[in-house]
Amino acid sequence: MSKAKRTKKKIKKEEITVKTEEYEFKEHKIKIKQKEKMRGLYKTKEYFKYFKLINSKKIPQKPFNELLNHFFLHNKQIPEKEKFAIKTINYYFNEKVIVIKSLIGDKMYENLDELVKHYGWYFYITGVPVGDSDVSIAVDKIERRYTSDYFKDINLSENDSDKIRITLYPLVLKPNHNCIILGLGKFNILLDCGITEHYYRFIEDYLENLPQYILEAEEDQIISNNEENEKELDNISFRPKLDAIFISHSHFDHISGLKELIKLYPDVPILSSRITLDLYLLRDSEFLKQENHDVIEDESYINVIKNVIYVENGEKIEFKNKNCYLSFFHAGHMPGALMLLAKIKNYRFLYTGDYTYWDITPFAGTRSFLKQISRPIDFLLIDAVCANEDLGDQSQQFHSLILFMEQKAEYGDSSLIGADPSSLAISFLLTFWRYFRKLQLKKGYQKRPNIYVDQMVRKNIQVINHRYEYIYGPISRLIRDKANPFNSIKMRWFDLKDLDFLRKKNNIIISHPPDLSYGIIRNIINIIGRNPHNLVFLSGAIHEQPGLDLIEGAEEIEFSETWKMPFRALLLNNFAPQLKIKLHGDKLQLTEMIKNLEPKEVCFFHQSSKKLVDVADYVKELGVEKVSVPQKRKLLILN
Ligand SMILES: [Zn+2]
Ligand SMILES: [Zn+2]
Repeated sequence: MSKAKRTKKKIKKEEITVKTEEYEFKEHKIKIKQKEKMRGLYKTKEYFKYFKLINSKKIPQKPFNELLNHFFLHNKQIPEKEKFAIKTINYYFNEKVIVIKSLIGDKMYENLDELVKHYGWYFYITGVPVGDSDVSIAVDKIERRYTSDYFKDINLSENDSDKIRITLYPLVLKPNHNCIILGLGKFNILLDCGITEHYYRFIEDYLENLPQYILEAEEDQIISNNEENEKELDNISFRPKLDAIFISHSHFDHISGLKELIKLYPDVPILSSRITLDLYLLRDSEFLKQENHDVIEDESYINVIKNVIYVENGEKIEFKNKNCYLSFFHAGHMPGALMLLAKIKNYRFLYTGDYTYWDITPFAGTRSFLKQISRPIDFLLIDAVCANEDLGDQSQQFHSLILFMEQKAEYGDSSLIGADPSSLAISFLLTFWRYFRKLQLKKGYQKRPNIYVDQMVRKNIQVINHRYEYIYGPISRLIRDKANPFNSIKMRWFDLKDLDFLRKKNNIIISHPPDLSYGIIRNIINIIGRNPHNLVFLSGAIHEQPGLDLIEGAEEIEFSETWKMPFRALLLNNFAPQLKIKLHGDKLQLTEMIKNLEPKEVCFFHQSSKKLVDVADYVKELGVEKVSVPQKRKLLILN
């Protein structure tokens, strides 16, 4: 070893690569690295068990090259398919550890005992990295027009002494549509953009008639306050325009209108997190039609990306006016989701977007970030999708689901989970992975299921893996410090072209969407759903057939006129209806939000006012002065 390397070794505690070679097995090339100073990650309970065994039984440690030749050329226990799936082998001579990075490793796992006894080395079998995100790379290639300093030159009022009027204008109040205009003096920002073309003209209408709407709203205020006052229209001397669009997260009902809207307003800055932008492209069916994803071809996407100003948790966008800014906080709900706080002098307005308070998933909920927001909040505009529900203890819900699956794994049966590919699917994957891994490491559990995800879930994971530093909570810690679940041998992805694995035993398959409306999950349920020993759970929003039929008790799934199949598996949705896993705050989480933020006024969105009557009363009981529901295209003056 050279002197330079030795000094490096002294300074750095991290492991070092001593030698890199290539091994060729029937024209399949495998990278071999000799390493020293093994990472703590590999020192599992299992490792110590085998290390002890090797020493106590005085099993001779086979020279590495001899082992390699024997393993690949003569070991009949390990099928060729697995040998070909190996991409990299690292070995640590002193620790007697061989790390095998492979796409599949079932037989190696099964025969671990034999391998150790035969070769005198411990085999740590792990997966190959989930891969880089093409989409994130492509997005990063595009130069953006604005920086976060852009707003520093923007004045919210004509002059600094003017009061800055804060207004809300709900463009649409319909399921699957979210778009509210927030007015901050002269500045108009869309809170989300979940609209169809039909609604664009209402934005124009708002901009044209804003002075009139303000006057009407003021008159309403005067009447309701019994004031006598003459208001005049001339207190607005500017021509309102659309100044910014905030995208809270990448779900369709918050982003559907963005691409078309940018065609109408090509200069408008878009505020969004990195993950939201990447996942938006990934979800867009037009973008998915592109042959390659490492370059963005369509001009209309480029126009969106150009205008984006990245905002992340804790960041501030300041205006020219003193003490006026926007800031952003994690909203839970899904990776990349943010809340928006508008601080205008002493007034605080908070828009939650869709949120979860608890760390329901391995992505942290709002709970950890509310401390950073100064209170009281004057106006809280909050997601009410589940506000009238009691979802119970969500970690308990996840746990019940896992117990069902553990039972299935006991007999080698399979489970299919249908979920949104960007949020719940990943939460499930991580939660299952952690649970079964712990079981294996602590109790030597042998029946750890393979967790399979479809390519869309994998692509979402690649984005998260790529942008993990912007995610908080257990997941970012896992990726950074410990075992990266996405590189685990027990986490795999599959292609529509190769569904052979469905015939194997003991799998958990996570695919999308929960209403079974796409091809791939239909092919999977067509096999998994016929067997009465298997388990199926459809989680999240189910709006379409045939998933809808199934949870209503149908015994047959009808995909088309010519394609029907009997459904015999255990459908958990009906078998255990108390099991509710949703990525929106329920009544209890709403209560926590209110306790923490001390809002003076609460206004709901994302749920019809009819369903919220009881919730509104309840929120008042919590001590909130005023509770309101937005009215369609009626301007509300907040201050
Ligand atoms: Zn959402
Ligand atoms: Zn939503």
